[in-house]
Amino acid sequence: MNTQEIKELDERYVLHTYGRAPLVLERGEGMYVYDTEGKAYLDFVSGIAVNALGYGDPDVLRAINEQAARLVHVSNLYYTIPQAQLAKMLVEASFADKVYFSNSGTESVEAAIKFARKWAKTRHGADKVDFISFTGAFHGRTMGSLALTPRPHYQDPFRPLMPGAKLAIYNNLSSVEALIDENTCAIIVEPLQGEGGVYAAEPAFLKGLRALCTKHDVLLIFDEVQCGLGRTGTLWAHEQYGVTPDIMTLAKPLGGGLPIGATLVTQAVADTIEPGDHAGTFAANPVICAAAQVVFRKISNPAFLEHVRMIGSYIQEGLLDLQGKHEVITEVRGRGAIWGLETSLSDVGPVVDACCERGLLTLKAGPQVLRLLPPLIVDRPDVDKAMEIIDEAFSRVQD
Ligand SMILES: *Cc1c(COP(=O)(O)O)cnc(C)c1O
Repeated sequence: MNTQEIKELDERYVLHTYGRAPLVLERGEGMYVYDTEGKAYLDFVSGIAVNALGYGDPDVLRAINEQAARLVHVSNLYYTIPQAQLAKMLVEASFADKVYFSNSGTESVEAAIKFARKWAKTRHGADKVDFISFTGAFHGRTMGSLALTPRPHYQDPFRPLMPGAKLAIYNNLSSVEALIDENTCAIIVEPLQGEGGVYAAEPAFLKGLRALCTKHDVLLIFDEVQCGLGRTGTLWAHEQYGVTPDIMTLAKPLGGGLPIGATLVTQAVADTIEPGDHAGTFAANPVICAAAQVVFRKISNPAFLEHVRMIGSYIQEGLLDLQGKHEVITEVRGRGAIWGLETSLSDVGPVVDACCERGLLTLKAGPQVLRLLPPLIVDRPDVDKAMEIIDEAFSRVQD
């Protein structure tokens, strides 16, 4: 089938929930993906912060193949080896004592919502059910996480939403103080907002949230689905703040491209959870847990994280140069391998398209921010090439 036929097939049979770029991607290798016409694209999207090790990492592939030959699925009615081993790795490298596995980012947030509610009801009674989330937040699109994702465009067609969701202002502690009360169950926050425009939390803000949560006996949930697992140059984004949560959600990069979510909790939360409180038929699939162990081992290597920090500085230099050249670039934000270029353009889409035509995949974070999410293995020559293309793209769009 040719490219046009694939597009027509998709248009005809796949429900139209996605606005797609006009290319059909067929295979990937390292930092590159290739379309059905054989054209190569340097990938600064990585499947939306998923492909941390790029495409075709041989160790991940071996783990997938070996585990697939042994056992693909048996459900959580039974113990399996990869799940137990992966849980140990995540717990030993974090604040947490226990892990619940699921299949996606939004499911990891749904689990966090349920565990927080159960904890609060057990410890405080029936009324402590409210959640506070923030402007610019993205926590997912299922009914619980959607209520905590304050965008009219996402929420309005699907009201009524989960009750008890309150909205505070990101990086504004007094907006939280004004909302928090004895009925607040948990605060959920991204230490670095991805979809919301690549905004990092200020240190005083996260520290202040921790203090408020402790004072009011409220759980602090960090959503590290996008910023976690090395993306910001440390294993967890919150490490850079010296603040620990009670619950953390993970997903995007964990499975090496296969779907998995994880909700990490402290013992105090775990103590309120019993068999039957939550479950998933596919959760903690053995093949994915085997792949995730390899991904986790590689990313958590200090030398690997050092590479991400180094390349982060290099990307920042390149982007600041571009800002010097192009007036429409008004701010450069980010760290490690997550960057946002704020622009004065009403829509940065044409820049994304111009990059794509020149063989570079980028994405937006809101209408005005060009976002870069390369695989964490990205190196200097890749960055040089990306900067050249982004430079040309901005020149063309401004003309
Ligand atoms: C992508 C994302 C989610 C949702 O993940 P899905 O796997 O798409 O459901 C939740 N939180 C954050 C911070 C994300 O970036």
